[in-house]
Amino acid sequence: MTKILIVEDELGLVKLLQYNLERQRYETCVCLDGSKVMSTIINEQPDLILLDWMLPNVSGVDICRTIRRHVQFKNMPIIMLTARGDESDKVKGLSVGADDYMTKPFSIPELLARIQALLRRSSKSAKTRPLIAGILKMNLSSKQVFKNNELVELGPTEFRLLQALMEKPGVVFSRNDLLRLIWGGDIHVQDRTVDVHIRRLRKALSDDGDLIRTVRSSGYSVNIDKK
Ligand code: CA
Repeated sequence: MTKILIVEDELGLVKLLQYNLERQRYETCVCLDGSKVMSTIINEQPDLILLDWMLPNVSGVDICRTIRRHVQFKNMPIIMLTARGDESDKVKGLSVGADDYMTKPFSIPELLARIQALLRRSSKSAKTRPLIAGILKMNLSSKQVFKNNELVELGPTEFRLLQALMEKPGVVFSRNDLLRLIWGGDIHVQDRTVDVHIRRLRKALSDDGDLIRTVRSSGYSVNIDKK
């Protein structure tokens, strides 16, 4: 599971972030006190940090610098959160090593999109960490899929389909979503094509609709509760 550390002293915002991140199946941990950030990072080993610019005692900028000085954490994805919209602050934040920057009040969907983009860029999450959904595991670097730790052979389209579903476990994808994601919205590809490949995917997984769920009149999702 991908873990996100929230370094923020505004409790209301912490709660809002936690709620929304956990809904997206991220694990969260929180640090309210700027002076404890490094020990929290070492203990929790997060995959990404949301870092408030204005913290009591220590500034987000100083924390960012400190994190970057650690060899182990120099590639840690960091998104700065700030109340100020000043361009010079943005430049400063990025110059001390933040990967991205959001000005409060920000939109949660935009933050989630930035988090995803950043995680995809960071090699730890995208290349070396397997995607896991219930009993399914997908290794992106070796292009292998496992069901209950047993290797499953998939065609390239089925692999991409499953990858799309597993990147957002539990989320329902419409046929249109999948057409856009897998076939790039090619107008010659029809809804039925999605169904054909879903059928092949299920066959390869020996799934009777329990793993790849059909959600009536909306689309497909991968079942994360399957044991
Ligand atoms: Ca603050």
